[in-house]
Amino acid sequence: MKVPVSDYLQQVLGECLADEGSVCDVIPELARVDPDQLAVAMCVADGTMYTAGDADSRFTIQSISKPFTYALALADRGERALLERVGVEPSGDPFNEISLEAGTGRPDNPMINVGAITTYTLVGDGDLGAQERFERVHAGLSAFAGRDLAVDEAVFASEMSTAHRNLALAHLVRSHDIITCDPHEAVTGYVRQCALLVGVRDLAVMAMTLAGHGRNPVTGVQVVPEPVCRLVLSVMATSGMYDAAGDWMTQVGIPAKSGIAGGILGALPGQVGLGTFSPRLDRFGSSSRGVQIFERLSTDMGMHLMSSP
Ligand code: GLN
Repeated sequence: MKVPVSDYLQQVLGECLADEGSVCDVIPELARVDPDQLAVAMCVADGTMYTAGDADSRFTIQSISKPFTYALALADRGERALLERVGVEPSGDPFNEISLEAGTGRPDNPMINVGAITTYTLVGDGDLGAQERFERVHAGLSAFAGRDLAVDEAVFASEMSTAHRNLALAHLVRSHDIITCDPHEAVTGYVRQCALLVGVRDLAVMAMTLAGHGRNPVTGVQVVPEPVCRLVLSVMATSGMYDAAGDWMTQVGIPAKSGIAGGILGALPGQVGLGTFSPRLDRFGSSSRGVQIFERLSTDMGMHLMSSP
């Protein structure tokens, strides 16, 4: 018997109950959220949206912003210029590790913090001032979402007050001349990017834009050129889930990115954009119930990239 998509999603939420782990305590402000929130959204190629659970909850995008900033930097500077400064190899290490190529100091990939901080500095041309660069990132991520995203100033301030490790990473890449601007400016912009507020619908639209050749399925705006999306989705598939990337690719098989506020975004090329939200995190810093929901959806709907139709 066929059930409406939203009813099916509701049923999945009701069955993904094992909520191990705890909410992020690295950013003090994030520890204050209601840990029981749970939501899923699915956007298909024509922009039709299906949701279930707390779909109106807002949370900070955190590391889910990384593939989008990477897309903007690729669109602005080209693949070659990016590859000179940020690699595309999975690090197999946690997201905040010092994963730099021996000799050059080039970060392994743009999905880990050191690579994302570097990527942030490559958005726009070299002459952009700090404020203009953030405006370009803000406008770009908003175009992916199809609406103007706000910054959570409390989360931003909270993360800046404990950003010692990200500052250290930025100083390291500055010492290798991988970034050329002031490390503090790079981290401030990157942390502000991570503090943009989204809901699961935004994640689903952003994912479908990447999965749909760079064209936002709701607004019709071509946000980045098509070849950029292929590269971004490839890096998400190999590095988006950090040191759990292999488990994720074998079990779920959808290019994805997680964030420590509890969001997960998945983009199945040409097909569907998915977003989940549940704040308790597993040991890799990804939402526990989000991972389960993705496993379930991928199995039920045959979404694994490597399974033939
Ligand atoms: N803003 C967080 C950080 O830089 C993002 C980490 C994440 O979501 N995995 O540490």
